[in-house]
Amino acid sequence: MNLFSLKDAEAFVATGKKEFRHSRETLLTPGARDCLTEAGIKVVFDASAAPAPAASPSAPAATKAGGGSPGEFERLFNSPEARSLKEQICDIGRRLWMREYTDGNGGNISCRLGNYFICTPTGVSKGFLKPEMLCLVDMAGNQLAGTWKRTSEINTHMAIYSVVPEAKAVVHAHPVHATAYAIAGLEPPPCLIPEIEVFVGRVPVAPYRTPGSAEMAEVISPLAPKHQSIMMGNHGLICWGTSVEDAYFKMEITDAYCRTLVVASHLPSNRTSIPGDKLQELLDLKKKLGLPDSREGLKPEQLCGCDPWEMISDRPKACATTAQPAGPDTSKLTNAELEGLVQAVTNQILETLQKQKS
Ligand SMILES: [Zn+2]
Repeated sequence: MNLFSLKDAEAFVATGKKEFRHSRETLLTPGARDCLTEAGIKVVFDASAAPAPAASPSAPAATKAGGGSPGEFERLFNSPEARSLKEQICDIGRRLWMREYTDGNGGNISCRLGNYFICTPTGVSKGFLKPEMLCLVDMAGNQLAGTWKRTSEINTHMAIYSVVPEAKAVVHAHPVHATAYAIAGLEPPPCLIPEIEVFVGRVPVAPYRTPGSAEMAEVISPLAPKHQSIMMGNHGLICWGTSVEDAYFKMEITDAYCRTLVVASHLPSNRTSIPGDKLQELLDLKKKLGLPDSREGLKPEQLCGCDPWEMISDRPKACATTAQPAGPDTSKLTNAELEGLVQAVTNQILETLQKQKS
């Protein structure tokens, strides 16, 4: 039996043919079927059709890569291990929705199953997932089993799995407070609460890219080896973990931290923070727990950067090293420096105008 995947369907669409004929020997993945019908191609079952469809160069490759056949994929997808992972994904989906981390059909969850991945379908509220809605995909994002179409953001998950072997699960959602930081383009400051320092660490901001695009994957993958929780600029938050629940915990801790900062920024404050040497103690504790941290090797005086309260004020100064959006980086300038720069540019313009007049 031949597997006809989403990639094959896309190749078939590119041929411009209007009808796709297949026999019982060809198994269409749900993603492939959707792709064909969405492109207006008539899918016809024809017992006499050739077993291998015209445009399926990658189908055997997909099966060869994992050494599986459609029957084997079905068996794997219905194995006790897969059933347990599906239950975990549905449980975490409910928790995401209950905590208002997802809205509408937003968010997605995936986890490793051997060389393959189980992921959530597209177009479904994460609060009401059922195990039978989940999908099996390969590393290229091709759907191998499951009757619902896989999430369109699977690429971004793969960007993490491909560079972090210890990542067993990925959770992406739009928790309001972390997303507020993501749209402000601000990395939450360090040295205010131990919990995030020990269990998450720095949360960098990746620049905005179209959700699900190859460009999105490109900006996430360099950050993933050192960061389990990553802000997706003007979008949301993505976290990886050693289990589905661990990935979810990273999200919960990150959002709780951002929410606390938002509330604290409205209070009159003595602007207290965790000193660098005390943060070092937390990082030592983290090391003992076997949790890596991107700040390893920094001196205590380098750990907190500038006053974290400056970074949660009305006009924050980003003084930690973050993945900056494209364009000139003026975020590291103080307000006085920024005003000076604006003044210098204004003076230059006025000078030029005066020269033109005279
Ligand atoms: Zn999203």
